[in-house]
Amino acid sequence: MRAVNRISQIGIKKSSRVMVFMPHPDDEAVFVSGLIQKILTARIPLRCITVTRGEQSTLRFTLGPDVDLASARLKEQTNAYRSLGVTDFDILDYPDGGLEKRKKDIKTRIKQELAGFKATHVITLEPDGIYGHPDHIALSQYVTESAGNATVLYATVKPDFIMPSARSMAKKNQIKPIKPNYKLTLSPAQVIKKLKALASHRSQFIKFPRILLTFTHFLINDMLAHEYYAYYKGKT
Ligand SMILES: [Zn+2]
Repeated sequence: MRAVNRISQIGIKKSSRVMVFMPHPDDEAVFVSGLIQKILTARIPLRCITVTRGEQSTLRFTLGPDVDLASARLKEQTNAYRSLGVTDFDILDYPDGGLEKRKKDIKTRIKQELAGFKATHVITLEPDGIYGHPDHIALSQYVTESAGNATVLYATVKPDFIMPSARSMAKKNQIKPIKPNYKLTLSPAQVIKKLKALASHRSQFIKFPRILLTFTHFLINDMLAHEYYAYYKGKT
């Protein structure tokens, strides 16, 4: 694993065109918001897609009982992208928890997006979905299979990542997040913007004491000052 702080060190150049596909609102803030900032600072074309509206989440902090979670999370995701400076984004409405059943549609959409944007790089979560969420796993597979000539870069976690037990959706011993090739260091300003993006997802994070538990989880797993990435190697 190589420690880097510039995107050129992970092969993203001035001539690159980067697309990000994330399954749910907040995945971009948690896993790739530092890299997103670095890409934008370098003025490299970037388009981000969130595939669902996260309507199956059991968390709805700060929301009144009558508020529709999908609409609330759509707004939160829009705010999160804007707080990171992302202007080219789309938030789709594939069913949260149902990506496994929409393989054909989603792969068609991914291919159209990549071709339309002329993407040279595509970023998604690593193949085990970090902690085994079926949507994360499905989207990772679809992006990998649909990438064509675009280079696939996986967002992953540090090698001794401690699995959040409550969120582990598959048997723990079956989940092995891919080992990173790169440990990307964020500047203090980038860490602050990452925290702002996380805070945009109010319904998922803004509740005491959960916010402290989440923050501790992030610190233990080194998810604020660093992000971890690996290139896909192999055949689709
Ligand atoms: Zn997710």
